[in-house]
Amino acid sequence: MQCAEVEPGFVRDVLIRDTRIAAIETRLSPTADVEQIDAAGGALLRGLHDHHIHLFALAAARQSVACGPPEVTSADELARALAAHAEGIDPEDWLRGFGYHESVAGPLDRRALDALLPGTRPARVQHRTGAMWVLNSAALERVGAGLASWPSGVECDAQGTPTGRVYAEDAWLRERLGDASFPDLASVGRFLASCGVTGLTDATPDKDSATLAALDAAVESGALPQRVVVMGALEVTPESGTRLERGAHKVMLRESALPEFEALVSRIRAAHEQDRGVAFHCVTRAELVLAAGALRAASVHPGDRIEHASIAPDDLVAMLSELGVTVVTQPGFVYERGDVYLRDVDPADRPWLYRGRGFIEGGVSLGAGTDAPYGDADPWCAVRAAVARTTRDGHLLGEGEGLTPERALALFTSPLEAPGRVPGPLAVGDAADLCLLDRPWAPHSADLVRDHVRMTIARGRVIYTRERSAG
Ligand SMILES: [Zn+2]
Repeated sequence: MQCAEVEPGFVRDVLIRDTRIAAIETRLSPTADVEQIDAAGGALLRGLHDHHIHLFALAAARQSVACGPPEVTSADELARALAAHAEGIDPEDWLRGFGYHESVAGPLDRRALDALLPGTRPARVQHRTGAMWVLNSAALERVGAGLASWPSGVECDAQGTPTGRVYAEDAWLRERLGDASFPDLASVGRFLASCGVTGLTDATPDKDSATLAALDAAVESGALPQRVVVMGALEVTPESGTRLERGAHKVMLRESALPEFEALVSRIRAAHEQDRGVAFHCVTRAELVLAAGALRAASVHPGDRIEHASIAPDDLVAMLSELGVTVVTQPGFVYERGDVYLRDVDPADRPWLYRGRGFIEGGVSLGAGTDAPYGDADPWCAVRAAVARTTRDGHLLGEGEGLTPERALALFTSPLEAPGRVPGPLAVGDAADLCLLDRPWAPHSADLVRDHVRMTIARGRVIYTRERSAG
């Protein structure tokens, strides 16, 4: 790669061989067999890592469309919503709707749905009661392929033809959908690649072996071109030989039903015995106090981390710093949910919401994730919010908590296995997991938008180019 800005103000040629950076020089003369990329002075960054994301939930959310009030209240609106949603997903993907109510377009069946969504895309729409699905003709064709007879929950007309209404046959439907019961991750993988993301940590707790197998298949097939670390249960972990990397043991803490202290301590010890960190979900003060206390009692593993740490006053920051435990925050929530926080959160707690500088100056290692689909999956939204600390309505949340653009980016470029470690400049021998911008860092740092990502490279392979996707 020629003329890449490897550090602000330093333009170099970069040679990538296999999965690593093999050389960084003022001028390289590559042999003819080396593919050449003219970076034209654009900044070459480390690939971004989303340290906290929920992949299948994100894929399902991206593939689902609200089909009832308040979003949709008439047949016209429903047709428009279905068409708009269909445009954003792969032509082969199932369209999944939820929340249908008769007030929108009367009783729904396959013909009504075919008329609302012309074309060959399979679609299923769930009634808001959850008791019924309506399948369009393409969907019925897929689930009925090779079937001798329909089960009793599939409503049929006098001629024995399915009406499209399927009652209480969720288990059958899941079985018939086969792979489609786990939403396809390809469009999620492509979107994240277009953001410059080369690594992910899936934070969903208690994945079963079928979920791990589906994730592994997505990495294996290239649907997910990123590195994938999976958090989860103590008992179910990726088998050796899979492409998934084992992450921390996830512990959900809920203030309304906190676990018994000694039980929690032994759970931490059990994870550490597997040479595995523990990731605590902590969104309240009480949850954070309990997690810190239990970690102190059990001793700390380098992989231990606190997810969210949503409310962290100075005394708790000091405690986390003393323990040496990493915090994985969601600065995107400052923008996305900040206005609700300003209305609903106790004024005494507001200064401690999703802190940035407070953690760093307090000596806590800080990384970040988007928590998509509960937050926007574009990490650049979170990077901007970590800098500006402004809400959607333009209010400031957490004065003095803003980070420099460089430090905010480092929340997402820290190593997957060490989200709080600020990475150094690119060096020979580093993994070729890279994000090339269409301009140098200085102009990019002024607005930090995803549109500037020109190319993404993972394990030495180009997984996204803007040129190609535009053409
Ligand atoms: Zn989460």
